[in-house]
Order: sequence, then C-alpha cells, then structure tokens
Amino acid sequence: MNETYHINESGYYGAFGGAFIPEMLYANVERLRSQYLEIIAKESFQEQFTELLIDYVGRPSPLYLAHKLSKKYGAKIYLKREDLNHTGAHKINNTIGQILLAKELGKKRIIAETGAGQHGVATATVCALMGIECIVYMGSVDIERQAPNVSRMKMLGAEVRPAESGSKTLKDATNEAIRDWINNPVDTHYIIGSVVGPHPYPDMVALFQSVISEEMKWQLQEKEGRDYPDYILACVGGGSNAAGSFYHYLDELRTKLYLAEAAGKGIDSGHSAATSILGSEGIIHGSRTMLMQTPDGQIIEPYSISAGLDYPGIGPMHANLIKQGRAKVIPVTDIEAIDAAFDLTREEGIIPALETAHAFHMLNKIDFRKEDIVVVNVSGRGDKDLSTYIKYLNRPHNVSDE
Ligand SMILES: *Cc1c(COP(=O)(O)O)cnc(C)c1O
Repeated sequence: MNETYHINESGYYGAFGGAFIPEMLYANVERLRSQYLEIIAKESFQEQFTELLIDYVGRPSPLYLAHKLSKKYGAKIYLKREDLNHTGAHKINNTIGQILLAKELGKKRIIAETGAGQHGVATATVCALMGIECIVYMGSVDIERQAPNVSRMKMLGAEVRPAESGSKTLKDATNEAIRDWINNPVDTHYIIGSVVGPHPYPDMVALFQSVISEEMKWQLQEKEGRDYPDYILACVGGGSNAAGSFYHYLDELRTKLYLAEAAGKGIDSGHSAATSILGSEGIIHGSRTMLMQTPDGQIIEPYSISAGLDYPGIGPMHANLIKQGRAKVIPVTDIEAIDAAFDLTREEGIIPALETAHAFHMLNKIDFRKEDIVVVNVSGRGDKDLSTYIKYLNRPHNVSDE
C-alpha cells in the first residue's frame, strides 16, 4: 500500500483532513471516531449492510459496455450504473451505512445537508425505512431548482429546512446542519453526504461508497479478464462518487484517475466551483483541504448549474490525490456539461444527472488508445434536472465537433 494516498491514524491524507470542530461537538465526533471502524467491521453490521445494498438498493449496479460511445471516442467505454440505484444516485450507499451506524450508536434523530436533493432524498429514505426522525437542510436557491426532490423528501416524511444565508446553496445548508448538531449533540447523528467534514467522515463515507470499485474489480475481471481499467472518470462535488469508484484502485498505478470539476460559466468568470484550480489550502466544515477563499480567508461563493457540484471545497482525500499528482482534474463548464448530457442521452438512451454530465465531457478531453478500457462513473440519473435540460432542447448538440 502506498501510504501517500491513504488516510493515516490521525485522520490526515498527506497535509489534508483532520477534525477542526467546535468544543461542543468534540464528544460526539470523538465517539464516532473511536467506534466507526469497529462497528463497521462487525459481522452483524456487514450482514445488514450487504443485504440492504442487494435487496433494497438493487446492487450490484451494472457495468455496461457503451457501444456507441466507445465507437465515437475510440476506446472501450464502460458505464458504472450508479444511476440505477434506488433513489437514483450513489448517495444511498452511504446513507444506508450511516443509518445502521446511527442505530448502533443509539441515535434518535437524523440531520443532513443537501445540494441537489439527492443526499436529502437518500437520507429521508433510510429514515423512513428505519422509522427515525429526519431533518434536511437545503439552500433556498436549491429548493427552487430541485423542486421534485423537495417533494420526494416531504412525501418520505422528512422536514426540509431552508438555508437563507450566503449563496443559499450547499455550503450554507451545511453550516445550518452543523449549527443544529451543536445544539443537539447527544441524540442526533449528522449524516454527511460526501467525503467532507471532520475526520472520520471522509474516511467513513469513502468506505461506504467503496462498494462501487469493489464491484468494478470483479465485473471487469469477468468482462475483460483483468480487474483494472486504464481510466476512471468521475465528477467531483465533495468527492464521494469519485472516492467510491477510485477506492480499490488508489495503489493501482496502471489506472489513471480523472476528476471533472464544475467550472460554471468559466474558470475566470467569477461564477464557478473549480475548487482545485481556484482554491488554496484552508479549513472548511471541519477539515483542512482546498477551498475557494479570499486572501483573508473568507469563503468565495461558488456557482455551478448543477446543485450537487456547487460547493467551494473538495474532500481532503482528493485534495491530496491532486497534490500528489495521482488524480488529474479537468474543469467543465455548464454548457459543456449540458452538451455532454445530450450526447449521452442521444447515443445511449441514458439521461444523466447534471453532475454526472460533467464527467462525460472529459471523454472529449482525453486522448485514448483504441484498446484502452475506460470506466465512467454514472453517479446519478437526470430526472431531477429535466426542467434545466428542457431549456437547452433546441440548442445544436454536437460535442464531438468542438
Ligand atoms: C451529490 C452528487 C454528486 C456530487 O457529490 P460527490 O460527493 O462529489 O459524489 C455527483 N453526482 C450526483 C448524481 C450527485 O447526486
């Protein structure tokens, strides 16, 4: 194992990570930190987790050889179909794990933050399943642009509380959730939706999502006679779908790892969420990582057409992978993502989430060899984004001519 890419005993990936939390949360986070590995390793926990992933989520998710895309981009392109999971994205893998953990810890109340609403829906779903109270914080801008998911959360019995500060998006919802947790440290578990936040969250969420690359290994072995691809492509908001699809390949240096970051209206437009390019080292939501900030440390409001990528930070694992040169980042603008979404839909009949569409744009940017095996992680489906897509229906779509 190459130590450089993995978390160490103090909760750091290289220079990034740690747990920078208010005094009031110390006992809660410390309890989680000291127990999560032991709880997850228990046989009874693993049995319940696996059973729910299979029978409730619908795992394993297929690894689909996309024939038309392969022909178009001149490589063997496989799609890891997390969009086919129950509730429509990879988020459910993590919420199933965390709700089981919360039960083990005797928690009676769940809080969560959400951007696109996918994590909110996945959390509301597992709370309904387990009969636990659920409160989801969501920026009021996101409540508007992701209306179908808000309705789903309400139908599932969750309370959706709007966050009205800042850009009224994911970062602000996260601030509200942390505030709630400070006020309710004993009975409440905070289900964070990505590989962000104080240690042990980045590692815990990555572990729950690692089922994605665990399946890829045997699926590729079956289909290709080797268990690793030449490339894995994923979009990155906080980084959980990327972490899950990279996890078992971190030390497999024959596999190149690519991250698509939201460039919004363009890197230099002042309206983007291209954290790794525009960011610098600092602390956000409890961990030391890369984030977009002013010289005096104020967070710069991020922007992306996709609510799930609209975040000014990036998980500490990815900050380190990028710094070490293990993962490469390609910035993708709103319009490039829209074009990629139409491209995938017209070529393969799959409507991706707007977040996922960013990953697909990278197919245009990488020079593949014909024999390369490429896996694109299809983090979620596009039902929630139809009102955005439909505005671009009459735009000429031919990404390959760019
Ligand atoms: C939430 C979300 C993302 C971004 O979150 P990560 O933690 O970076 O994976 C990407 N795609 C979809 C479909 C999402 O719902």
